[in-house]
Amino acid sequence: MSEDCIFCRIVDGEIPARVVYEDADVLAFLDANPLAPGHTLVVPKAHHETLRDVPPAGGESLFAALHSLTPVVEDAVDADASNVAFNNGEAAGQEVPHVHGHIIPRFDGDGGRPVHAVAGDRPELSEDELDAIADDIADAVDE
Ligand code: 5GP
Ligand code: ZN
Repeated sequence: MSEDCIFCRIVDGEIPARVVYEDADVLAFLDANPLAPGHTLVVPKAHHETLRDVPPAGGESLFAALHSLTPVVEDAVDADASNVAFNNGEAAGQEVPHVHGHIIPRFDGDGGRPVHAVAGDRPELSEDELDAIADDIADAVDE
């Protein structure tokens, strides 16, 4: 628990939230400033800033909760689809430094954008550069 973390304080029950799911490792609650009806945040109960800080078991329970909750949230608000995403780090727009997945219900014709809209200008990458990046990632995964 981090004393000055809003989401730790929600996990601890110090700050009220509309909790929709809880298990030993994960809490899910409605976003206070929703982008759509049903906008839900899914957080590990332990304080970790970004996904890279979450240990493997924490990642499994976090994904399991996102996986089971997403269709339930969609159905609850009669959504046609959803975006499920993390702002993972400050440069990616993360404002609350306690890792959280967003489940954002989407509706036909809602005027929203796909996740492709979140990044800056598309880079121009040659075939060689793409090969090198793929190799670097694959090699690092093997280590
Ligand atoms: P981020 O930009 O860090 O990915 O998103 C943080 C989200 O947390 C925002 O969508 C914001 O509306 C939500 N949020 C911030 N403070 C609170 C709070 O005290 N309670 C709840 N339920 N949501 C919050
Ligand atoms: Zn926290």
